[in-house]
Amino acid sequence: MKVLIYSTRKDERAFLADAFKGSGLLAQFEDIHLNARTAALAEGCDAVSVFVNDQVDAQVIETLGGLGVRFIALRCAGYNNVDLDAAKRCSIAVVRVPAYSPYAVAEHAVALLLGLNRHIHKAYNRVREGNFSLDGLVGFDLHGKSVGVIGTGTIGQVFCSIMRGFGSKVLAFDPYPNQKLIDAGVSYVELDEIYRRSDVISLHCPLTPQTHHLVDDAAIAKMKPGALLINTSRGGLVDTQSVIKGLKSGHLGGLALDVYEEEADLFFEDLSDQVIADDDLMRLTTFPNVIITGHQAFLTREALQNIAQTTVSNLTLLAQAQPCDNQL
Ligand code: NAD
Repeated sequence: MKVLIYSTRKDERAFLADAFKGSGLLAQFEDIHLNARTAALAEGCDAVSVFVNDQVDAQVIETLGGLGVRFIALRCAGYNNVDLDAAKRCSIAVVRVPAYSPYAVAEHAVALLLGLNRHIHKAYNRVREGNFSLDGLVGFDLHGKSVGVIGTGTIGQVFCSIMRGFGSKVLAFDPYPNQKLIDAGVSYVELDEIYRRSDVISLHCPLTPQTHHLVDDAAIAKMKPGALLINTSRGGLVDTQSVIKGLKSGHLGGLALDVYEEEADLFFEDLSDQVIADDDLMRLTTFPNVIITGHQAFLTREALQNIAQTTVSNLTLLAQAQPCDNQL
C-alpha cells in the first residue's frame, strides 16, 4: 500500500518514519496541505493521511476517489474537516486516532489557564527587560474557585481531574455525564449554570453544527464578570467577534486560545516575515489578557509517537481488509 502523507510537519516526521519502518507500507511525505489543488498528487496512492487543517470536503474526496484512493487516515481525533457522507459515497474508508494523549491537551489547557491567570506572558517579557514591577500581575487562587468544563470526554475528564487536584470546584456540562467524575466530586449542571457560576470555563466538546459558536454574545453575557475562557478544542466553538466585544467591555476577564476559527491558512506556518491579513486575530493579540498558541496542545513526544503508531496500525488493518475500531 502506498500512502501520501499530507501536511507533514518537521516535529512529527521522525516519529512517522519510525512507525512506517518495517510496516510493509510505503510512505511519501509532503509538507503541503490537502485541498482541491493538491489532491491530484495522490495519483497512484492507495491512501492519504491528513491533519486538522487539511481540506477533506466532497470535492476533494471525489477527486481522491477518482484517482483510486481507498483510505483516508486522519492523524488527529477531531474530524469536523471531513465530509463523511461523501467518503461513504465514494467508498473511501476514513480512520482516525481517537485518543493519542488526552494528558497532552488537558495539560496544555491548564498551562494556558495558569499563564493567563498569573500573567506569566507579561512577567516573562518584563523580567527580560529588567522590569521587576508587580503592577498588573495579580491573579487569583484556583483553589476553591468554580471551573466550568464543557465536554467531559477523553480530554475533558483529564482536565476535570487536574482541576480537582488544584482544589477547584468543578462544574461540568455534557449530554453524557460520566459517573466516575461524579464519584470524584464533579457536579454536572446545565450550560446556563456553567456560565453563571464559573470563574474559569474550559471547552472540550467537539465542533458540530450544534456547538458552532457555542460561545457567542448571549453566552458571554451570561458569564460571571471577569471569567476566564480557555479553548483548546476547536476554533469554531467560539464566535471571535463576540469574545473581542467581551474583552473590550471588560466583561470577559481573559481569553486563552490554542485554536482559532480561521486558523486553517495560518497555523503551523512561519509567517513572521509576512503581513497577516486577519484583523480579528491581530486584534486578539493586542489584548494584555489574551494568550494564543498555534494549535500545539497535542504536541508532546508521547502524543506524536501514539499518533504515528496508531496511524500505521489503522492503515495496516485496512490494507488487510480487517475491521478497525478507529474507522468512522
Ligand atoms: P471526546 O469525543 O472523547 O469527548 C467529547 C465530549 O464532548 C463527549 O463526552 C461528548 O458527549 C461531549 N459533547 C458533545 N456535544 C456536546 C455539547 N453540545 N456540549 C457539551 N459536551 C458535548 O473528544 P476528546 O478526545 O475529549 O476531544 C475533545 C476535542 O478536543 C476534540 O473534538 C478536538 O476538537 C479537540 N482536540 C484538540 C487538540 C489540540 O491540539 N488543540 C487535540 C486533540 C483534540
